[in-house]
Parts: sequence; structure tokens; C-alpha cells
Amino acid sequence: MAQDNVTADIDKGAASVLQPPAGVNREARERLAATAGIEVHERVRLASVTTLRIGGPADLLVRVDSEAALSEVMEVARGCGAALHLLGHGSNVLFPDAGIRGIVCRLRGELGVVEVEGETVRAGAGVTLARLARDTAKQGLLGLEALSGFPSTVGGAVVMNAGCYGTEIRDVLTEVRVARPGRPVESLPVARLEPGYRTTNLQGTDAVVTGAEFRLRRGAGAPALARIDELNRRRWQSLPSGKPNAGSVFRNPGDDHAGRLIEVCGLKGLRRGGAEISGRHANVIVNRDKASAADVLDLMVAAHRAVGERFGVELRPEIVLPGGLAEEFWRRARCG
Ligand SMILES: Cc1cc2nc3c(=O)[nH]c(=O)nc-3n(C[C@H](O)[C@H](O)[C@H](O)COP(=O)(O)OP(=O)(O)OC[C@H]3O[C@@H](n4cnc5c(N)ncnc54)[C@H](O)[C@@H]3O)c2cc1C
Repeated sequence: MAQDNVTADIDKGAASVLQPPAGVNREARERLAATAGIEVHERVRLASVTTLRIGGPADLLVRVDSEAALSEVMEVARGCGAALHLLGHGSNVLFPDAGIRGIVCRLRGELGVVEVEGETVRAGAGVTLARLARDTAKQGLLGLEALSGFPSTVGGAVVMNAGCYGTEIRDVLTEVRVARPGRPVESLPVARLEPGYRTTNLQGTDAVVTGAEFRLRRGAGAPALARIDELNRRRWQSLPSGKPNAGSVFRNPGDDHAGRLIEVCGLKGLRRGGAEISGRHANVIVNRDKASAADVLDLMVAAHRAVGERFGVELRPEIVLPGGLAEEFWRRARCG
């Protein structure tokens, strides 16, 4: 196993692990609650804001309306030494059963707005990709259709360089607005993110994407909307329907498919507690019935080991594993 990859995955997977897992003190909570454009919720179970429906409470969950409000959240987090964890649609993340120390932050308000100027589209990081793709297609602006079929915010998709059906978000992205603690918000050309297969250099850093600019092309809206519907139909046929999940658990290794390798190992349908390796798509773990993060991690370790033993291939998680789960995964995956 390449140690570099492991370390990189731990770092990328869990921005919050890079900081001490301090809680949020009362003064910090009160300062945030008193700031315009910040909605504060205490001890919200993260299961309620993730597509896997797993995860214990966060000290604080804040919803932030603007870059100014975000800057205040960053400042407060830094001031009390608390981790700040950005959350989009929660469709690519597994939170620990014990929850997360620190602040989990979601974007909305001004950060959920779309502006169109010619073929240039600017969207706040809190906008969902599905909505953006449909709205732009209705206006005869094409390019996002293939990215409309999975649950995602613009911010989450930019950070993950999400992709589907041969299109990655970097293909249509021109610039990204990035906020960092103590620094003015910067507009970065997409190349500065060094996007690769499900990676950018924003992963595992304290950078927060607040918005993105896309360059789309003019075309007929009605066929584009029909294509969105068709691609979504195809997509949902290949995925487990009805049961909570987080899409692909592992990145595809090289030219192969993680799902194929796991399937050949005979692991489709394998269960741990309430979690199951989907019988429809072996790279997806579903929450069948009150699954815990520990159940999902057990299945990930089982799949990683089986594929390693049979094919000599190292599967690397695509799903983000904050709060110490990345370290736990790698420790167990490597220990045999
Ligand atoms: C049914 C299903 C199908 C899927 N299919 C695909 C697919 O075809 N292709 C694909 O690429 N993915 C797929 N996924 C995975 C997932 O939808 C994508 O990775 C998505 O882009 C994640 O976006 P999100 O808003 O949900 O991010 P989250 O899951 O909330 O967060 C993901 C990571 O991004 C960080 N993040 C989120 N927002 C910001 C921000 N504004 N600034 C900084 N960091 C941020 C988080 O801290 C976390 O590390 C699928 C998931 C599901 C459930």
C-alpha cells in the first residue's frame, strides 16, 4: 500500500481532523447567534442532514446566508479552536455515531442564488446542481445536464470535482470563489484547484467554496430537459432506490470499477448490522435499517480487504470520513 495515498486520504477525508477536536464554548455560541445571517442549532443529529441518514450530533449546526456571515463563523471557530466542517447536501459523507465536535456549516441565502449573464452563469455554493442544471437548460444554456442526476450542492461538487456520464464539473467551470479564515475571498480560475478524478486541492483544507462561475453554451432547452430526464432515469436504474446511501463508497481504481471488483469478491448483499453492500451496485452501501457508522465502516473494511487479497488492488474511499473515521478505516483496513 502506498503510504502517501493513505496519508492523503486521511487528510482529504476529514478537514476537521486537521484541527484539535475542541467543542464550541458558550461565548462563541452566543456571538454566532447574535450575528445577522447566521442561524444556529445546537446538538442537531447529523443523520438528519446526510443522505446516508447516519451520524450523531454536532456541537453546532449553523446555516449561513452570506460571505460576511461565513467570515464571522470562521473567526469564531478559530477563536475557540473548534473545527469547522462544511456540509453541502451531505451526499458524500459518513459522520461518526458519536457525532462531531465543532461547527458544521451549511450555506444558503445569498449563497444560494443564481445569476445569468450571456453564457456565463454564477451560482452560490449552496445551490443544488439538479436545480441549476434544470434552470439553465430552461433558459437554453447547456452543459450541466450530465451533472444533474445526483444529490449535490455546487460547493460539494466543486470540492469533489464530481462527475457523471463522462462530464466532470471542471469541464464547465471557469472560476471558483474561495473563502479562508482571516483572508479576503478570492476568485480562483479552475486550474488553480488542480482538479483530478474526484479530487481538488481544496479537499482537507480550511477553504470554503462560496460560489462558482460556469461557462455554458447556447442550445435548445427542450431537448436538454429531455436529456436530463433520460439520464436521471438511467442513473436511478443503476442505483439502489429507496434506501439511504451516499453513492459510490470507493473511487474507481485505474481503468477498473470498484463495484465490479467488490461484486466478483461475492460481497453483494453482505450485511453488518443495519448496513448492506447493495445487491444492485456493489460500490454502494445502503442503510437498510438504523445502520450505524460502525456498520458501514465494517463493510468498507471487508470490501477493501477482499479486493486487496483477491486482486492486489488498493481501494481508496471516495466518501468523506470525518471525525476520526478515516484514520479508523485505514488502521483496520491495513491491519488484516
Ligand atoms: C444516490 C447518489 C448518487 C451519486 N452519484 C454520484 C455521481 O454520479 N458522481 C459523483 O461525482 N458523485 C456522486 N455521488 C456523491 C455525491 O453526490 C457528490 O460527491 C456530491 O458532489 C457531493 O456534494 P454535496 O453537496 O452533497 O457535498 P457533501 O457530501 O455535503 O460534502 C462533500 C465534501 O465536500 C465538502 N464541502 C461541501 N460543500 C463545501 C463548500 N461549500 N466548501 C468547501 N467544502 C465543501 C465537505 O466538507 C465534504 O468534505 C452520489 C451520491 C448519491 C447519494
